Amino acid sequence: MARNTDPKCKQCRREGVKLFLKGERCLTLKCAIERRNYAPGDHGQNFRRKVTEYGVQLREKQKARRMYGVLERQFRGYYAKAAGQKGVTGENLLRMLELRLDNLVYRLGLASSRAQARQIVLHRHLSVNGQTVTIPSYQCRPGDKIEVRTGSAKVDVFKSSLESRDPNSLVSWLSVDKDKLSGSVLQSPSRAEIPVPLNEQLIVELYSK
Ligand code: SF4
Repeated sequence: MARNTDPKCKQCRREGVKLFLKGERCLTLKCAIERRNYAPGDHGQNFRRKVTEYGVQLREKQKARRMYGVLERQFRGYYAKAAGQKGVTGENLLRMLELRLDNLVYRLGLASSRAQARQIVLHRHLSVNGQTVTIPSYQCRPGDKIEVRTGSAKVDVFKSSLESRDPNSLVSWLSVDKDKLSGSVLQSPSRAEIPVPLNEQLIVELYSK
C-alpha cells in the first residue's frame, strides 16, 4: 500500500505550519517548526518570492493531504465524492477526511499521530462495531464503535497515548472510554467542530479549475 515517505518535519516546514505528524515530539521545542520555521532547501529562506494564486491553492491542498496522510489520487477521489454530495463541497471533503478510521483513532487519543494510527489499524489491533478492520481509510459513520481488540489491549501504545493526551483536546462529536480502550462517533462533525487550520475553499477552487 502506497504512502508518503517524505521526511515528516520537512513536510511541515514546506507548509509553514505544524501538521503534527510525529506525535509527542510535535509538542516540544525539538519541533522543527519551532527551530527553523522556513521552507527546506537552498532557497527556503527566500521570503521575497512571489506566490501566485495557484500556488496558494496548491499549498492548501498539499497541507490537507499531508495532514491526513492521503496521497493525491485518493484525495482527488474524496473531492469528487464531496462535490457529488449535497451541501458545501469543502465541508463535505473535510468531513470525509475526519471520518477516516485512522483519523478517528488519532482523535480519540489511541495513537499519538495519524501515521501511528494508520499502523495500528494495519496491524489488526482494532475493530469497528465488533468487526476487525484493517483499512486505514475505512469511513466510519455516526453510531460506530471503535475498540481495541481484546488480544491487543496489552499493547502499551494505547495507554501511553491516552495518558499523554490533553483531555480537553477531544472533539465534541466523539466519546472515549479510556478504561475500555474504545470510543464512539456520536455525530457527523460540522465545519466548526473540525479543528484544522485549513481553508478548504482554496482546495475546492484548485480542483474546480
Ligand atoms: Fe511537524 Fe511534528 Fe516535526 Fe514539528 S515535530 S515539524 S509538528 S512533524
